[in-house]
Amino acid sequence: MNDSNEQLIRDVVERVLGQVKSGWGGRVPPQAGSSAAPPLTTQAALAPRGGNRFGQFTDVSEAVAAAGAAQKQLMKRSLAQRKIACDLIRRICIDQADRLGQMEFDETKIGRLEHKSDKLVVAGRATLGIEFLRSEVFSGDHGLTVQEFAPFGVIGAVTPVTHSLPTTANNSIAMISAGNAVVFNPHPGGKNIAAYGVKLFNQAIYEKIGIDNLIAVMVEPTLESAKELFGHPGVNLLAITGGPGVVSAALHSGKRAICAGPGNPPVVVDASADIENAARCIIEGAAYDNNLLCLAEKEIFVEAAVYEKFTAAMRSLTAFELSAQQMNALADKCLEVPAKGHAHARREWVGKGAVELGAAIGVNVPRGTELLFGPTSAEHPWVRVEQMMSAIPVVKAQDFEQAVVMAKQAEHGFKHTSILHSRLVDHMTHMGKEMDTALFIKNGPSVAGNGGGGEGYGSYSIACSTGEGICTPLTYTRTRRCTMVDNLRII
Ligand code: NAD
Repeated sequence: MNDSNEQLIRDVVERVLGQVKSGWGGRVPPQAGSSAAPPLTTQAALAPRGGNRFGQFTDVSEAVAAAGAAQKQLMKRSLAQRKIACDLIRRICIDQADRLGQMEFDETKIGRLEHKSDKLVVAGRATLGIEFLRSEVFSGDHGLTVQEFAPFGVIGAVTPVTHSLPTTANNSIAMISAGNAVVFNPHPGGKNIAAYGVKLFNQAIYEKIGIDNLIAVMVEPTLESAKELFGHPGVNLLAITGGPGVVSAALHSGKRAICAGPGNPPVVVDASADIENAARCIIEGAAYDNNLLCLAEKEIFVEAAVYEKFTAAMRSLTAFELSAQQMNALADKCLEVPAKGHAHARREWVGKGAVELGAAIGVNVPRGTELLFGPTSAEHPWVRVEQMMSAIPVVKAQDFEQAVVMAKQAEHGFKHTSILHSRLVDHMTHMGKEMDTALFIKNGPSVAGNGGGGEGYGSYSIACSTGEGICTPLTYTRTRRCTMVDNLRII
């Protein structure tokens, strides 16, 4: 392990030790003064310094050209310099998590402040880097072939409002590790924090290794700028993180697209489960950042035999039970269910907390409540819609098999994430095969499947729509082969 790695790990350990453990990777409480974050404006982000752009662009072609020039420079540098660039992004995410998290929260106004900071620490810590790159070698009678994982060049990336800077940071580290440069078209609702973070990253990288614009960002992103990016001849690959609209647009662009699309993760609780643990894990996963994560538990199917025990366990923790009528009233308020077309959550309620949601229907929910839950049918809008707010439906299933059938229907074939609480291996096998999801988590919170408390690494882009799964540096590479015939073998 080299010095910068050791230092990074030491800082993270110190930080984590000082925190109350909760949520994904340990909660990061905001420090005094973090609310004094500078106001974000496009002008502030754009202010030039010494002719450098630090990744700030209003014109797609200029952004692509600058990122292309930066990528060419990167390819002349060592892997060690790539690592330095990525470590600088990590350091900024970890060291400035409170301040940047506050900024993201102030701008997007969704989710939970403490989790905005936490997500940046996770991006800095859990994103894989150059160590994940590898070469493959074939050696035999006919010589030697080396297969390497090479960069695409310039990647056009789209990020969601639900985690604007964490996705930007995570994608940047993985893409640069693989030798690419990237142009982001962020969600307009999180554009200022994305542009500000990109500016910090570029400044640090430029000061250390003298390359500017490895990460470019459209400071005034629109659907038009996304479309231009998708069709730009200088963009070699698309990397999309967002809902069904943008995934469909990217897949129709004519370019190769890695699409981290929508999810609607069901959780099944069978009669064999550790019910206390199931309730605790579901609250932890579903209430994290007010349910904004694409992999978070979105609907619960419980075997009838343990239904009462399960709801009692939820009530005994930080969840508050609504009646069926109250769930209907909340659905009328927060969910849009057109007679024809796609049912979805109303924007103004996305990322809202349990207390605020309760107040919306005149229910006085105790402070400290993290999640609302209540009974619905399996066909209810609460089950069909990816709600992304701190309320979750609970459906009573007559047995495990019926619960899995309901769960499969609720997941809409996104093949994103599903969760099971059970002690029975047969049930785990059956549900895992039936659901066929990119992530299948047993007996833990959903985030455990993405490096948050389970084994393995994590990413803010889980490419369920196009099959790559949790994105790593290798996701952003293409395979190149170098063959020497009948020679260069040492055995
Ligand atoms: P969104 O789909 O509204 O926006 C995502 C991005 O796509 C934004 O930058 C938006 O400006 C852009 N966009 C939307 N329609 C477009 C179009 N037709 N052409 C070009 N660009 C377009 O989603 P959101 O509210 O920002 O994020 C939440 C959604 O993203 C949820 O569905 C969630 O499941 C999904 N998501 C998935 C992952 C994953 O890893 N699979 C991660 C985070 C979020």
